[in-house]
Amino acid sequence: MVQRERSFTRSTCCYCGVGCGVVIEAEHDADGNARIIGIEGDKEHPANFGRLCSKGRNLPQTARSPHGRVLMPELRHQRHEARHRVDWAVALDTVADRLADIVQQHGPDAVAFYISGQLLTEDYYVFNKLAKGLLGTNNIDTNSRLCMSSAVTGYKLALGADGPPTCYEDLELAKTVLFAGSNAAYAHPVLFRRLEEARERDPDVRWIVIDPRRTDTAAVADLHLAIQPGTDVALFNGMLHHLVWEGLVDSEYIKAHTEGFAGLKQLLRDYTPRMAAELCGIAVADLVQAAEWFGRSPAALSLYCMGLNQSAHGTDKNLALIHLHLATGQIGRPGAGPFSLTGQPNAMGGREVGGMATMLAAHREIGDAQHRAEVEALWSLPAHSLSAKPGLAAVELFEAVRSGKVKAVWIACTNPVHSMPDIGRVREALQRAQYVVVQEAFADTDTVPYADVLLPAASWGEKEGTVTNSERRISRVRRAVPAPGQAQPDWWIANEVARRIEARLASPGAAPLFDFDGTAAIFDEHRRLTVGRDLDIGGLDYAVLESQGPQQWPFPAGAQGGQPRRYEDGVFATANGRARFHVTPYKPVAEPVSARYPLRLLTGRLRDQWHGMSRTGRVPGLFAHSPEPGLRMNPGDAARRGLRAGELVRIASKRGELVLPLELSDEVGSGTVFAAMHWSGQHLSSGGINEVSQPAFDARSLQPELKHAAVRVEKA
Ligand code: SF4
Repeated sequence: MVQRERSFTRSTCCYCGVGCGVVIEAEHDADGNARIIGIEGDKEHPANFGRLCSKGRNLPQTARSPHGRVLMPELRHQRHEARHRVDWAVALDTVADRLADIVQQHGPDAVAFYISGQLLTEDYYVFNKLAKGLLGTNNIDTNSRLCMSSAVTGYKLALGADGPPTCYEDLELAKTVLFAGSNAAYAHPVLFRRLEEARERDPDVRWIVIDPRRTDTAAVADLHLAIQPGTDVALFNGMLHHLVWEGLVDSEYIKAHTEGFAGLKQLLRDYTPRMAAELCGIAVADLVQAAEWFGRSPAALSLYCMGLNQSAHGTDKNLALIHLHLATGQIGRPGAGPFSLTGQPNAMGGREVGGMATMLAAHREIGDAQHRAEVEALWSLPAHSLSAKPGLAAVELFEAVRSGKVKAVWIACTNPVHSMPDIGRVREALQRAQYVVVQEAFADTDTVPYADVLLPAASWGEKEGTVTNSERRISRVRRAVPAPGQAQPDWWIANEVARRIEARLASPGAAPLFDFDGTAAIFDEHRRLTVGRDLDIGGLDYAVLESQGPQQWPFPAGAQGGQPRRYEDGVFATANGRARFHVTPYKPVAEPVSARYPLRLLTGRLRDQWHGMSRTGRVPGLFAHSPEPGLRMNPGDAARRGLRAGELVRIASKRGELVLPLELSDEVGSGTVFAAMHWSGQHLSSGGINEVSQPAFDARSLQPELKHAAVRVEKA
């Protein structure tokens, strides 16, 4: 009889930004084989206290089989060839040589990295140091650009620093909860459950949901404002107009802790509730009711997500919402504040290490000479060696690959041929690129066929590190079983290539940049870079996380714990300590409807699926809730077009088209259709809804407007 042992490993769910703690049960045999066989919510984790949603509960089923995994490095020497398997040494040498050659021939900006909010902080750190510290390019962006960058610019412009001022405890303390562009019932289910329980305990708690769709979150709201897509700024300005007019703003707070209100007030004169409600397509009384509930609430909390962020005016949407909090003093106290819910599990950790094209480590700025000098000193780099030129953000990055300006792109832990807007252009870019490296756990993503080199990455349950969730809480991710085949952790792959490039490019005698022997050493270097910054975690290392559990930042040296709430003293992270109001006029969506493309396409999540379904798509039970792809249309719109439920329809925009079965639903209003983001080329004859989405992006956050496009729908 085969002897098997059980192990139980504390870790973190790899899906959304709630960051639920889990306990992974694994079975090990005497030959060293192991598999994950079960999961439970970690009852001691302060994000979830033992709860898990359907995605988290089914994680073991996604991790059981090596089927569909990338097991060995593969490469090809010519585009027309099939890739063949090689060992790690050959793969790493080849990648290092090609990248070093391209940098030497064309300069550092001829190379770009496109990484992921699903990488762990330590993975992110090594990639960022490789691009900025070793190669000298800021061309490193991530799919977090598609997720949270408008929230980042909103926080920085209004409050002086990235990161929410709030914590999960505020979900239970809020008396008015304003959901803006967030279907938390699907996207952040465990937080939604905490909110539901708080409302069950206190029937005076009111929920306002702002969403063009009647989502499952909107369906249980006390007030649903089904605004026209993209009119959020007009709504927030109209609400603030009412609060000013009715004397519901906190003048003392505004005077003591903010600046710029006079300029905004001037703009607000135009945004009467009537004018704003007309723009938004809602009743004036509903707008006024929302403003009253918010302004008179003892504690108003806003929860917002992709409906605000994925917009060509996402920064203004974030600012206009934060204005409501600053003007009423609903910030920096229990149950109150603006709270961006992070989409991905570690979009926050990526920002902390500066792993994006527009930032440096520990919330430093690329354009700030002092900040560059600090990072150069901390990395032992020669003075002035960091590039002052901002890197290319996601949409710009793939355009530069397409135009030939960027010759080589290294894609890790993400599937841009599914998730980027206007994926036809992304496919063209990857076809034209001189060199494409794809680092992946799963062999069947839409991006893998474009790889000249395919590097097998370890997945959830197989690697070590940390992630930071929506409330700034850093949790450990732990390895429960070995990775299959020759798959390796992402940080290790980047580190090994970096060491090889360093041997070729670095000056003689230069201190080694990549002598990391594990994730604890990487985290240690990262925390040293944060000392003195707003996110100071000088007092937090793996030993503290081990002994005290997950912790929120800031956690400076000497602190007894993390800080649940920020700005409680009314001092903000700006140079003069005052929060800033900005002038936020309403601007319409980037692509208006027209006679040729008369419908507004909205996109969003399904309850039980995650992103491109590389994991959740392996679990039959997760298809029970939404078994098939589909386009949802209002029954009246369908009848006018002679379309029936279940028949195939062609959805076309200026950029492309795809065919989906039609679903009839009152969830969407007349003139609007909805499709889920998850289905991709694995499930459809085309590449999913991003065949038709558009790449217009916000000028400040550089986040594209994935939530809205003008389309035509006709019988297929
Ligand atoms: Fe995982 Fe998010 Fe579900 Fe928690 S709520 S189990 S983090 S997907």
